[in-house]
Amino acid sequence: MKPTYSIVAPIYNEEGNIPKLYERICGVMDATGESWELVCVNDGSRDRSAELLRDLSVRDPRIKMVNFARNFGHQIAVTAGLHHTSGDAVVIIDADLQDPPELIHDMIERWKAGYQVVYAVRQERKGETWFKLLTAKLFYRVIYRITDVDIPMDTGDFRLMDRKVVDALNSMKEHNRFIRGLTSWIGFKQTGIKYVREERQWGETKYPLKKMVRFAMDAITGFSYFPLQIMVYVSFILGVLAVLAIPIIALLRVILGFQFLGGQVTHIVLLLVLSSFQLFFLFIMGQYVARIYDETRDRPLYIVAERVGFDAAVEREAKQLDKEKVATPST
Ligand code: UDP
Ligand code: MG
Repeated sequence: MKPTYSIVAPIYNEEGNIPKLYERICGVMDATGESWELVCVNDGSRDRSAELLRDLSVRDPRIKMVNFARNFGHQIAVTAGLHHTSGDAVVIIDADLQDPPELIHDMIERWKAGYQVVYAVRQERKGETWFKLLTAKLFYRVIYRITDVDIPMDTGDFRLMDRKVVDALNSMKEHNRFIRGLTSWIGFKQTGIKYVREERQWGETKYPLKKMVRFAMDAITGFSYFPLQIMVYVSFILGVLAVLAIPIIALLRVILGFQFLGGQVTHIVLLLVLSSFQLFFLFIMGQYVARIYDETRDRPLYIVAERVGFDAAVEREAKQLDKEKVATPST
């Protein structure tokens, strides 16, 4: 039977957090009085996480586990979790209890009030290193500025999503996934609630610098063409310098004497002109690359929230046209 709520938790070496996670989730979800499931994705843990989850699922059929063959990374683990949910509303939560499960009650309330995405905004982060705080702050601000969709600041993956949103998300097959960006891209009625991010309950962060950099690159390349466009600004500056170089050098020669810079002048001007041209055409190539990337990523063209007033036949045909993109949660 389909539960009302599905909770998705990615798990990478979290043996010390699993018992508490289970306990807290049970407390919070039982209080809703509705049915629920907890889908844990074991992302190639090297500790006893898989055994613990297996035991839990034997004792409590509401607990389910997807066991990865190796570590595929946080965003892929969450994606797999979403694929395996069947609830009307789905909550993504970290397994280390940095995201307090109690907030789910507020999320459900907003969902019932008609919002399809309720994301949690970190107002304060406890027990993080200054390096993590600084890089996170910088990351969210840069992403906010250079991406083409409005990705809310200081927001992680801790969020509730309506089934419609999850289906849309599941229909996106791109490999380099930045889930919070994809959810923003999808649209629907979204709202945020503020919370204090707790300290990690047990163990260490599973996000070393290398993974953080990879994550940031996925976010930027997935939602922005800015890096491909930078060249046009540099090209413009070099072009202006090339145009200005001739009168400036002439003036300097009048002031400093005709020996100034000797025969290098033509070289300098030529270098500026050619570099400017080269960068400009690299920019043009970048625009084509960006479009190739767009096409290969094969995102749906649009996401429909509802259809009003169509004949059944027209509606069926429209859905047919969008067929490959209509989500099948089991894929
Ligand atoms: N995680 C995962 N695979 C990974 C890294 C992390 O499934 O390769 C999970 C981890 O178990 C946790 C969540 O993703 O539930 C967030 O990771 P973490 O708490 O280490 O990140 P931080 O909070 O330090 O940014
Ligand atoms: Mg954490």
